[in-house]
Amino acid sequence: MRTLAVVGGGAVGLAVAWRAADAGWTVTVYDPEPARGASYVAGGMLAPLSEGWPGEDRVLAFGAAALARWPAFAESLREISGETMFVADETLTVALDGADAADLRTVSEWLAGFGHDLRVLDRAGVRALEPALARTVRAGLHARSEPAIDNRRVLRALRRACAGIEIRTESVVALDDLPHDRVVLAAGARSAELWPGLPVRPVKGEILRLRRRPGVGPAPTRVIRARVHGRPVYLVPRADGVVVGATQYEAGFDTTVTVGGVRDLIADAEAVLPGIAEYELAEANAGSRPGTPDNLPLLGHLDDRVVAATGHGRNGMLTLALTAAVVPALLDGATPAVVEAASPQRFPASTMPTLSQGGVR
Ligand SMILES: Cc1cc2nc3c(=O)[nH]c(=O)nc-3n(C[C@H](O)[C@H](O)[C@H](O)COP(=O)(O)OP(=O)(O)OC[C@H]3O[C@@H](n4cnc5c(N)ncnc54)[C@H](O)[C@@H]3O)c2cc1C
Repeated sequence: MRTLAVVGGGAVGLAVAWRAADAGWTVTVYDPEPARGASYVAGGMLAPLSEGWPGEDRVLAFGAAALARWPAFAESLREISGETMFVADETLTVALDGADAADLRTVSEWLAGFGHDLRVLDRAGVRALEPALARTVRAGLHARSEPAIDNRRVLRALRRACAGIEIRTESVVALDDLPHDRVVLAAGARSAELWPGLPVRPVKGEILRLRRRPGVGPAPTRVIRARVHGRPVYLVPRADGVVVGATQYEAGFDTTVTVGGVRDLIADAEAVLPGIAEYELAEANAGSRPGTPDNLPLLGHLDDRVVAATGHGRNGMLTLALTAAVVPALLDGATPAVVEAASPQRFPASTMPTLSQGGVR
């Protein structure tokens, strides 16, 4: 029997463990706090197009390939859990000033060059789609094929999918201590602690969950994205309200929710959707995105035994279905063409022999 240790039980580790077990591996997941981490706090947007910017062609292509995997992946999770993963079907990026409206046109033209047809809407077009948005919204970019999922439903479903898999609530100190034939490194923002030199760093993000109170105006039905005073803000529908995200800082592993972060998120969200002032502030969280220098993940061999499934940055939910499919293939010796852009070999230092390989730690 082939044995596999998956280090990290966030969305990535659990999804990989599930699919690898299906592929015949005897899997053990290690995580002191499974199904939490960044995966628990995330917004759940699957937005490779709306997040795109001219020049970031490789990130766009990778994200679009990842999004294409989601419908089948979500259906498998629905069969296991009985819950629908999707909470929105579309994304609307709105502009509050002329410069942002011009940016929407720039992005739309760039995306058209790759065959992605996103419509630019005027003020009336935006209001027709989402009447509750602020009257100051002057234009929008409508992505009709960019959905959002509820990340906590995904985690619940993945826990059920992993019901037959051993999950050890332990922290791994050195990969060489693990007795398994193979190892998947899926420790999110902490992955470099187990593989020194791996170019993964924590990128802090604060995020709010707002609950709709009786009698208060409805939340938007689409994901709404905007920039307010130069800061990005987004609203992602939930069954009981809306998620408002997210700040972005380089702050090490600090996950304190700051007053300033909450203040900015609420002010920016209110500038887009005035009605949210009446909502209940249900939760404020912060998490560490596992960032890489080029905003693409690290999916591939670090040596003959260890495969990286990390560095998903701000798109770990988007790339989840793709990651879950390709990591078992990598373990079996295949190199799916789609993951070439995410190969750890693009950062030569990440695959150099390390202390953890030598068992010194
Ligand atoms: C505020 C915020 C909003 C976001 N919004 C979105 C979004 O809208 N769309 C999107 O696609 N992505 C979003 N993301 C990004 C997404 O959440 C991450 O990319 C994704 O969750 C990464 O999953 P992961 O399993 O690699 O990491 P995590 O979920 O962080 O899991 C890593 C796990 O590894 C464990 N671990 C760490 N060290 C060890 C060790 N030594 N031994 C054992 N276990 C260990 C941790 O306990 C943790 O459970 C957002 C992130 C944040 C912070």
